[in-house]
Amino acid sequence: MRKSKEVIALFVITIALLFYVTCADAAPKYVFLFIGDGMASPQIHATEAYLASLEQDDTVAGGVKAVNLTMSRFPVHGMQMSYANNRFITGSAAAGTALACGKKTNIGVIAMDPDGINPYTSIAELAKEKGMKVGIISSVSIDHATPAVFYAHQPCRNNYEQIGFELLNKNFDYFGGGGFRVNKWNSEQYADMTNEERYQVVEDTAVNNGFTYVDTRSEFDALNRNSGRVIAVNPYLDGSNAIPYALNRKEASGSGEAYEGSISLAEFTKKGIKLLKNRDGFFMMVEGGKIDWACHANDARTAIDDIIAFDNAVKVAVNFAIKHPRNTLIVVTGDHECGGMTLGFAGTAYESYYEKLALQTVAYDDFDNIVLEAYKESHDPAPEGIDDDMWEIILDNFGMDGANLTDDENDDLTPYEISLIEDAFDKTMHGTSNNPADEDNLLYGHYNPLSVSLTHLLNRKAGLSWTSFSHTAVPVPVFALGCKSRSFNGYYDNTAIARKLARAMGVSLGN
Ligand SMILES: [Zn+2]
Repeated sequence: MRKSKEVIALFVITIALLFYVTCADAAPKYVFLFIGDGMASPQIHATEAYLASLEQDDTVAGGVKAVNLTMSRFPVHGMQMSYANNRFITGSAAAGTALACGKKTNIGVIAMDPDGINPYTSIAELAKEKGMKVGIISSVSIDHATPAVFYAHQPCRNNYEQIGFELLNKNFDYFGGGGFRVNKWNSEQYADMTNEERYQVVEDTAVNNGFTYVDTRSEFDALNRNSGRVIAVNPYLDGSNAIPYALNRKEASGSGEAYEGSISLAEFTKKGIKLLKNRDGFFMMVEGGKIDWACHANDARTAIDDIIAFDNAVKVAVNFAIKHPRNTLIVVTGDHECGGMTLGFAGTAYESYYEKLALQTVAYDDFDNIVLEAYKESHDPAPEGIDDDMWEIILDNFGMDGANLTDDENDDLTPYEISLIEDAFDKTMHGTSNNPADEDNLLYGHYNPLSVSLTHLLNRKAGLSWTSFSHTAVPVPVFALGCKSRSFNGYYDNTAIARKLARAMGVSLGN
């Protein structure tokens, strides 16, 4: 098993080196830009440590401590600074604008100057002008800040209606992933419409504008080269019109919902290649958007599974590049760090127990909306303290034992840890807390106190911790492979990425 993995790793490295030295002088025909939202070194390496821990107990001396992701194996590595025009710690709109347009802007602005008056041109728009086909893919709603900066120009990221219609009127060739935030549409004419009626407007407008619009698995599978320009929406969407978390899509999910037929980021990417491949090349942006959301919620396991899903999409591009080594360029980066994740915790000091993260079976959102809601319904009024049913739920979904339900002492919670969960249970079930408000704010952010306390505890027991419910300014790695990838070496501003891409593609972003 180990041996064959080493052979595969060696093969990947050889291929990577081959790309590094054999690229033609011509501009790459096929360009992929992968953006892990909220993904920086801590998130990437936590995933690598977790994957290693699945192979063995990572506390055993001498064992493998990290299984590298596909992106980490790329031959060219850089590092970027993510700050926004008007704030050191950036947001997705400003960071995305830098990555797409090569220019800084203010927080919340979508591909426009800081005052939101003059539009910037994106690398995707230039690719289209050059005659390439363009695809934009995201695991969150397709009108969300990161995908939007490539095709829309708005002074405010919350202009979902305007962003949605910019998409529907765009000359791009493929939009795939999450849906539209029609519930945020705010002009008079949609005021009396249900969300379903608004989605009908989306579909009708798409079709009128020459798109093929699909939102079922079978229609998606049937898409091919003859489908023309495509908008493909995942058959399952969460409350924010995003694709469900990879962890929740697993068969063993504690929520009991496997979201059968849900489309993965890798599948959207594979389909993109099929739809976009042509003589004049393509530009494809693929966003792993919910890595960020899981990190906002301080849920490491959920972030890790979405990073694995993101890396699987990268793998699809690498397999394509192996077939087209002389004219493919792949760049993988994040837009900013999120959550202030770090790989170490005071309570575990120098030890790590990442295998404990494998005990979590459901992401925080399905735990809140499905597991906890079912508990509340069957326990009305909620008990004063945590009862055996709730301890069983906590054991099943997070592998932590607060009531000696198993003989295994490894999963036992300490009295201090139990007191933290009891406090959070009170706050969630009864809205009561003995803590000062600012302490509750630091403990729970605006998340469900119980679920965020459970992920905090499990993460800390693994030896991993968080400093924030927001983004941080930790520099973000850049990985590049293939034609013209060498320029991505070094330490630079996030705006340099779009400029390096433009230079590689032989287009100009202007000043
Ligand atoms: Zn972001």
